[in-house]
Amino acid sequence: MNDTHTTRRDEIAAGLAEVERRIADACEAAGRARGEVTLVAISKTYPASDVRILAALGVRDVGENRDQEAAPKAADCADLSLTWHFVGQLQTNKARSVVSYADVIHSVDRERLAGALSREAVRAGRRLTCLVQVALGDEPGRGGVAPEGLAPLADAIAGAEGLVLGGVMAVAPLGADPAPAFARLRDLSEALRADHPGATVVSAGMSGDLAEAIAHGATHVRVGTALLGRRKPFVR
Ligand SMILES: *Cc1c(COP(=O)(O)O)cnc(C)c1O
Repeated sequence: MNDTHTTRRDEIAAGLAEVERRIADACEAAGRARGEVTLVAISKTYPASDVRILAALGVRDVGENRDQEAAPKAADCADLSLTWHFVGQLQTNKARSVVSYADVIHSVDRERLAGALSREAVRAGRRLTCLVQVALGDEPGRGGVAPEGLAPLADAIAGAEGLVLGGVMAVAPLGADPAPAFARLRDLSEALRADHPGATVVSAGMSGDLAEAIAHGATHVRVGTALLGRRKPFVR
């Protein structure tokens, strides 16, 4: 490996192999099958050409957190038959755009947003899978409904035309042990499934904490940095 002309494809392939190894190890440690966990590659700040490389390497699920960036990238990659995940905070006035390319929204945290997504999904003739983002820390501004708000919001999504209630999503609180947060999310998911047995998705875990998330039942891990490299610090 002393070739200085390492290509972007080589870099991404190495990142993917390492992430796959970490996911496989975490599944084994938790006594879970590898097939129970979906890797969602978070491509924010990276170009459509990187998404093409990921797709060529077998990645099928891609995620973004800003509509302005995601919409052109998804259009650029429309020939790839990828599943697009929207994971960022979402303004109601972006619902129409996001519905045009996203298959799964991880960040539904209020009824008004669910209503807008429902209207736009109906209008576009699409069925959109929605996860309820739950706020697990005391961190205003990072999105998510308080745990007490999960059940009513889930009921609203389940009852909305054009929407499918997929499950729950959370981001571990910054600078704290993620394990208790992920354990809480699993408890909330179990309670939700008593009323909505199909809501099986638990979206949790990022580059730094995917093993802890898998240990606590994550079905989807959202990984950016470990696949594509460090983002510029001033970009969210
Ligand atoms: C950016 C982002 C990720 C990926 O984070 P990394 O630490 O780069 O793996 C996951 N989830 C959300 C909501 C994000 O915005």
